Amino acid sequence: MPRPKSFLPQLIVDPAERAHKCRHNKEHQILRGHTRLTIKDGRDVLRYCSSCAVKFLQADLEEIRSVIHQLESALNSDPVQS
Ligand SMILES: [Zn+2]
Repeated sequence: MPRPKSFLPQLIVDPAERAHKCRHNKEHQILRGHTRLTIKDGRDVLRYCSSCAVKFLQADLEEIRSVIHQLESALNSDPVQS
């Protein structure tokens, strides 16, 4: 069996090496040494402040839970292949 695949990009919690702005809101300053979320998606590297990251990840989590729920329901109700 192939290894389980992840649909997620790489999510890395790391300290900022130097001060920079949050990708979502330029008014969110991430100071040097402060924890941020770095997302590596193919060639893109996006960095968000912790506050935005928590908000977006929680929304993602809700969506993922909903999708899992729909798929699990389908597993139980779709006709079984013979
Ligand atoms: Zn932010």
